Amino acid sequence: MSSEQALRTHEAHVRVARDADFWRERLHAADLRVTDQRLLVLDILDAHPHSDAAFVTAEAQSRSRQGAKSPLTLQGTHVILQQLFVAGLLRRVDLPGTRSARYETRVGDNHHHVECVVCGRIEDVDCVLGEAPCLTPSQTHGMQILEADIVFRGVCAECAAAFDEQPRDLAEAQGFTSPVTP
Ligand SMILES: [Zn+2]
Ligand SMILES: [Zn+2]
Ligand SMILES: [Zn+2]
Repeated sequence: MSSEQALRTHEAHVRVARDADFWRERLHAADLRVTDQRLLVLDILDAHPHSDAAFVTAEAQSRSRQGAKSPLTLQGTHVILQQLFVAGLLRRVDLPGTRSARYETRVGDNHHHVECVVCGRIEDVDCVLGEAPCLTPSQTHGMQILEADIVFRGVCAECAAAFDEQPRDLAEAQGFTSPVTP
């Protein structure tokens, strides 16, 4: 493991305070101009990982002074997210069954995601092996395997509790036949 990798792994596990100076340095290192909009997108995603462009845009609006023009348009957010993703400052997450791509600032590790199928909540799960591919397929068909896209799907504790209160309604609404908790 190189020192750069070690640093990234350390950052991923110990949530260091990431202020504007941290992101300014990252943007410089990636040869991207430091703009208020880019800093804003990074700050929002740091606080709200796995958000899509619509959420980031709405959050930017809600953070701006009342009556002030929003610092981001949806189209502008899309462009910035793509630039930061290409530069390696963001990770893009495409979850099965969701239409919009999510983004997060936790990059450089091979972490996976667990998604609640009822409320859509998404959390990080550390990779046991720490690097891709973390699964060996039973058959490679002659391909060199680069990565395994793993998403754990389940029901979160809150939704499981709601199941207990009104199991039939929720189960029917979500198309489930059996709740997870016994
Ligand atoms: Zn849930
Ligand atoms: Zn994540
Ligand atoms: Zn893994």
